[in-house]
Amino acid sequence: MYKHHSALGVALSLRPAAPVTLIRPQAAARAARFFAEKFPGRSLYAVKANPSPTLLKTLWTAGITHYDVASIVEVRLVRRTLPNAKLCFMHPVKAEEAIAEAYFKHGVRTFSLDSLEELSKIVRATKGAEDLELCVRLRVSSDYSKLSLASKFGCELSDARELLMATRQVADALGICFHVGSQAMSPHAYTQAIERVRAAIVDAAVTVDIVDVGGGFPSSYPGMEPPPLEHYFGAIHRAFESLPISYSAELWCEPGRALSAEYSSIVVRVERRRGQELYINDGAYGALFDAAHLGWRFPVRLLRPEANDETDTESFSFYGPTCDDMDHMAGPFDLPADIKVGDYIEIGMLGAYGSAMRTDFNGFGAETVCEVADEPMTSLYREEVTVEKRSNVVQIRR
Ligand SMILES: *Cc1c(COP(=O)(O)O)cnc(C)c1O
Repeated sequence: MYKHHSALGVALSLRPAAPVTLIRPQAAARAARFFAEKFPGRSLYAVKANPSPTLLKTLWTAGITHYDVASIVEVRLVRRTLPNAKLCFMHPVKAEEAIAEAYFKHGVRTFSLDSLEELSKIVRATKGAEDLELCVRLRVSSDYSKLSLASKFGCELSDARELLMATRQVADALGICFHVGSQAMSPHAYTQAIERVRAAIVDAAVTVDIVDVGGGFPSSYPGMEPPPLEHYFGAIHRAFESLPISYSAELWCEPGRALSAEYSSIVVRVERRRGQELYINDGAYGALFDAAHLGWRFPVRLLRPEANDETDTESFSFYGPTCDDMDHMAGPFDLPADIKVGDYIEIGMLGAYGSAMRTDFNGFGAETVCEVADEPMTSLYREEVTVEKRSNVVQIRR
């Protein structure tokens, strides 16, 4: 792994012809410490956001001991990478073989479910184990989120009573979990969902040991600057404290995006300019799936040594390198008006759902990974706002 001082340093010294993934372990460690210290309960890292072993080790070192895994491949990966981590298998629809391997071979005791069929599967696959922590996933609204997770999983409130009572019969610890959708832009998402948890608990009259508020904690993107995470934590804490549960009940959360977004970015090269369209060497089949398919706007900056802040900026869209029309990122991405072929751009905040979605379609991958020491392009975790000026152009300070 190469180590460099900055994104600009990578562009200048390597002049890479293929996209380069930049990683910033210090940014992921800062996010992990923030959750470990400030979330009023336990934080599980949702591995699907970015399963890179280097990131997993960074989070572990910074205090994240629990991992939300969704497939047997993720179970094996985290077990191999972090032998002492606690794994929670939080996909509500699992293969019976996966449950059995997770339980008997990898020591997994925590599983989620949203149906009686899944409950029977878990009981069968673990041969009636008596040390299970089972979390019933409730369906909640995704109204406050940029990415809905409301349709696919979660038991309706009207079915929750029966499922909670049946699960209580076989579980050593009973939990209720939910997911408000990804990039939740308001703490209300969580307080509203916790109200639903209250209704379910009251209706089923069961003892609940774990309330797991899931993922959805936001990161900062252009046009999507969320309130401070402390506001989310405060709202969740107050709502949790008011639930009819014992004082020893545990509060959990499962951040994916919030722990990994700032961890990585990419350096791409402009291969052609056609008006306000830039043809770059990474795209929808690389790290920019969300930019293409969800119209997500990521922060961008030109990596040019003689940058000057006076340059006018204009709005651009991007085409990726494959031969596919869908390989298009509408943006708009604001960059200096005189950007041209051969220029390098850093596209930031791709640590979550960026590198994890990359394919080698059409032969365009990204093999080079460089660690850099400079700050991510935006951060929710910066202790004090430092010199970084809001600019699309990197300054050289000597
Ligand atoms: C995807 C997912 C997460 C992580 O969500 P973020 O929005 O990235 O925080 C957490 N829990 C479950 C069950 C998920 O499916």
